[in-house]
Amino acid sequence: MLTVNRQEIYRYLGYGMQEPDAEVRRAVEDCLTFLIPQLETREVHRAFSLQFTGRNTLDIGGLVIQSSALAKNLDGCSEVCMMAATVGFAPDRLSARAAAAGKVSRSLMYLAAGTALIEAWCDQVSGLIREEFAGQGLYPRPRFSPGYGDFALEYQQDLMQMLRVQKTIGVTLTESLLMMPSKSVTALIGLSVQDEQCTVSGCEVCAKAASCSYRRF
Ligand code: SF4
Repeated sequence: MLTVNRQEIYRYLGYGMQEPDAEVRRAVEDCLTFLIPQLETREVHRAFSLQFTGRNTLDIGGLVIQSSALAKNLDGCSEVCMMAATVGFAPDRLSARAAAAGKVSRSLMYLAAGTALIEAWCDQVSGLIREEFAGQGLYPRPRFSPGYGDFALEYQQDLMQMLRVQKTIGVTLTESLLMMPSKSVTALIGLSVQDEQCTVSGCEVCAKAASCSYRRF
């Protein structure tokens, strides 16, 4: 069962930290009630060796990545867990159906809810990864996705190939680097012998962010 953060949905809908009125809140609940049973959550993850081969240059299982932000985040890690996850086509399908019926705000609500749901699913997968690697004395850093900082979006293609995501979880990439289903994520998670006790939701909500040199922003 996914724990969905309503405030995140309101934020994606443009309300910032404000609470929308009761009618909007009710409409969001309607969307979630209809959407959640149709989700097809899938994920794949796999650990790869990590080597620092030059200034801000990393070799992850043979994939060479140039990124200062990622190098900083993975500093001190010996391996990397590569992950891909999706909640399936339901958010895209329901959004398109609402748009075709002229229900624009409902269409946007399905997409906003889908974004909060894929984040919730990724948090759950990150928790599973933490449990899995704790037995090997390895502790995860927060997820770091292509497109974040100077980790170029183009690497998404490499991550998807290395995890064979089309075959394993049914996710594909368009020529313009958009994932289908759209509510899908690829990410790298550094594994370190040092337990920083990172939060699965990431550095943005971590109480230690102000003094942490590995934070992802
Ligand atoms: S800021 Fe928090 S979540 Fe981010 S790397 Fe540091 S300890 Fe981990």
